[in-house]
Amino acid sequence: ATDRVYNFSAGPAVLPESVLREVQEEMMCLPGAGASLLEISHRDKLFIEILQDAESTLRSLLGISDDYSVMFMQGGATLQFSAVAANLLRGTGKKAEYLLTGSWGKKAIEEAKKEGNVGVLFDAAKTNYDRLPTASDYSCPDDAAYLYYCSNETIQGVQFASEPECPDSVPLVSDASSDFLCRPLPIDRYGLVYACAQKNAGPAGVTVVVMRKDLIDIADENIPGYLHYKNHHENESEWNTPPTFAIYVLGKVARWLRDDIGGLANMEDINRQKSESLYKIIDESNGFYRGHAQTDCRSLMNVTFNLPSEELTTKFVAEAGSHRLAALKGHRSVGGIRASIYNAMPREGVEALGNFMTDFASRNG
Ligand code: PMP
Repeated sequence: ATDRVYNFSAGPAVLPESVLREVQEEMMCLPGAGASLLEISHRDKLFIEILQDAESTLRSLLGISDDYSVMFMQGGATLQFSAVAANLLRGTGKKAEYLLTGSWGKKAIEEAKKEGNVGVLFDAAKTNYDRLPTASDYSCPDDAAYLYYCSNETIQGVQFASEPECPDSVPLVSDASSDFLCRPLPIDRYGLVYACAQKNAGPAGVTVVVMRKDLIDIADENIPGYLHYKNHHENESEWNTPPTFAIYVLGKVARWLRDDIGGLANMEDINRQKSESLYKIIDESNGFYRGHAQTDCRSLMNVTFNLPSEELTTKFVAEAGSHRLAALKGHRSVGGIRASIYNAMPREGVEALGNFMTDFASRNG
């Protein structure tokens, strides 16, 4: 549609146009169903096929082996802050270790503390969450319940380039909400990875949990049923009514990644090109734009930067809006500008933003 803008929202966020079109075409009547997907039972054979297809497409994209369960849950990434700790920490007598590199990790720690003993091995608050730890910055005990990190802090725009150092005996847990499917992921390095869908993988309402099966039985039987991964695993994401529409769209996004983009390695190349083009403009602006993240921690997904003043920031957002560049305001907790350039943001959108940034700097620098 001609009135669509380039949407830099941090989430819910831009989706592939081809996916939106398919959804639109099937909205009145899902082929074979005589009704829309929104109107059929989650136990209907057609929906079960859609759910299984979404899972198998994710498995093929990420190379997820049979040693792992793939679960579709509700409650957002936020419920996983509690679920991870309720399953893997509560009642174990162990300590869970966290790497704190931004706002979402902070919230995860607050929830985990309600479930048991939590340690913070690295805390980037002192430098306003502009950096990530290297292996020499911390050491994780061999007997930790798990080591938790957030692979991409959406608000600050800092992203780990690879998995943090973690002892073999300790399950590595990642909140990959805002960089899931942006590049290949070595799943076998993880105990558990979760991601809410509404950034890179689909609409709000579903959270994907990929969990090593041998960890599923650690949980105490008395934790709340919905939080208990075992229920979702054993019932193939149908312990209760799953978010059917969100799973349906997520499956289409996964197919788009596989068939149109050609897989996650290609997606990573494209994401590198897109993000580098914006970081180059920041770096060559003679200090007009100041990137928030240290250079080696910059995110492929959320490009965060500041302008010389509050006035110029407001002006930037307003003028960008009149150029059809939307949702660029930084998170309310940090200010500045955040350009979220998830998988589905077309190159043309990034190019349009880059041209606007160069022009804006030359007029206001
Ligand atoms: N973790 C990260 C990295 C996020 O970006 C977000 C959402 N912005 C969350 C957790 C919370 O997700 P939800 O709103 O789905 O609970």
